[in-house]
Amino acid sequence: MSTIAVIGAGISGLTAAYRLQREGHTVTVWEATDQVGGVIQSESSDGFLVEHGPNSLRASTPALGALIADLGLSDAVVSANEEAATRYVVRDGRPLPLPMSVPDFLTTDLFSARAKWRLLAEPFISRRADEEESVASFVRRRLGPEVLDYAVAPFVGGVFAGRPQDLSITHAFERLADLESDHGSLLWGGLRAALSGSSTDNDGPSGLFSFRHGIDTLPAALADRLQSRIHLNTPVRGLSRPDDQWCLHLADGPAPESFDAVVSTVPLHRFATLDLDTPVDRTPLDKVEYPPLRVVALGYERDAIAHSLDGFGLLVPPVEDFDSLGTIFSSTLFPNRAPEGHALLTTFVGGARAPDLAQQPEATLQQRVEADLDRLLGVSAPPVFARQIHWSQAIPQYTLGYGAVKRTLDALEDAHPGLVFAGNYRQGVSVGDAVASGADAATRVAAQTGP
Ligand SMILES: Cc1cc2nc3c(=O)[nH]c(=O)nc-3n(C[C@H](O)[C@H](O)[C@H](O)COP(=O)(O)OP(=O)(O)OC[C@H]3O[C@@H](n4cnc5c(N)ncnc54)[C@H](O)[C@@H]3O)c2cc1C
Repeated sequence: MSTIAVIGAGISGLTAAYRLQREGHTVTVWEATDQVGGVIQSESSDGFLVEHGPNSLRASTPALGALIADLGLSDAVVSANEEAATRYVVRDGRPLPLPMSVPDFLTTDLFSARAKWRLLAEPFISRRADEEESVASFVRRRLGPEVLDYAVAPFVGGVFAGRPQDLSITHAFERLADLESDHGSLLWGGLRAALSGSSTDNDGPSGLFSFRHGIDTLPAALADRLQSRIHLNTPVRGLSRPDDQWCLHLADGPAPESFDAVVSTVPLHRFATLDLDTPVDRTPLDKVEYPPLRVVALGYERDAIAHSLDGFGLLVPPVEDFDSLGTIFSSTLFPNRAPEGHALLTTFVGGARAPDLAQQPEATLQQRVEADLDRLLGVSAPPVFARQIHWSQAIPQYTLGYGAVKRTLDALEDAHPGLVFAGNYRQGVSVGDAVASGADAATRVAAQTGP
């Protein structure tokens, strides 16, 4: 049986710790803040349920579905309301439904006739030989500028709070890059995958889902299983490995026990500053951008909003004249997010698109978000509930050259036996990706340390 330290009690750290503990290892988790879950925090206030971080989950990796089943949480899962299948994208100041079928695509006003013809030409566009390309360049080349402006750019704002001109298609949307290299066309490749039914198969929840009492049900259940093995309010300052055993350096000196292995799940900018005597140059880790993001949750009397709110929410393309990145219709998406007769809207501001905006005072930002919502949804009365969450360093940006980051992590693991990395900077930024990364780290640690 091995002794293992996990640094960081976000979802990737908790998943790794739980998996290792279940296999019989002695695991201890070290967390800097006073709570588990990392960016996953759910808050109930005045009858509104506000998500500070992720608002919805998708079992994009089998690991997330398996974890939920394993923890016995399947009954606590709530699926997204059917109405939430519609997603709005703003064009010329109006939210328009994103077409989800060929007939809808042919008749939508979201794209011009020229853009529709351009999209149909995609299978005839040749592959590009260059090694790495930005998301913007890839999409403009294959699908045309309007699809970039009115589909991909708002989507990138919604997932990464990022900008398509900064992100690497290879690292941020690996599957799209693979469709081009494997099939020569995104349309053909997508069609073939759909016909062969090659989606992610797993036994867990399908589609978009959450938990009845909020997404933090998941980290809370993991913490419950780990019990006293979690040290809160204990930031790790450094690591060393004298005599084949890992030692953690805390504010008031070394941790009393030593470990066979360490799983680091702290954000890369944090890891880059930890004391560690290493031959590996950690500069690429320090350079990864985590732009600031503000979450503005506003509750309204339902009658005050003219829009039918019949959808997941709306995304705002950067070419449109608004401050928000997008708004989730939270009370349409899942039950129990707002009191009877009320609606909860969750708006995101800032990110790599407008980092300065995310630093504005709360009152200024609320005014600007209210102005956007008035124009987009026809809001006729002030909110009856307001809550803002500041993320000073929210989501890692998989920018051009991100391969250097992955190589640095691999080199650190090679240079330091027993040191393993997991987190949203490794194989995708979604909760499902972070869970898969934590599970993968647990497997690799167990393989290195033995039973
Ligand atoms: C606003 C927002 C909205 C999002 N929306 C969605 C969504 O709808 N769907 C989705 O799938 N994903 C979403 N994501 C992404 C997803 O939630 C995250 O990528 C994922 O939860 C990150 O998990 P993690 O464990 O890798 O990192 P984190 O949650 O960042 O956990 C890292 C932990 O390490 C701790 N730590 C840091 N330094 C130290 C130290 N020195 N010592 C000890 N501990 C330390 C931190 O306090 C933290 O608890 C969203 C993210 C944000 C910020």
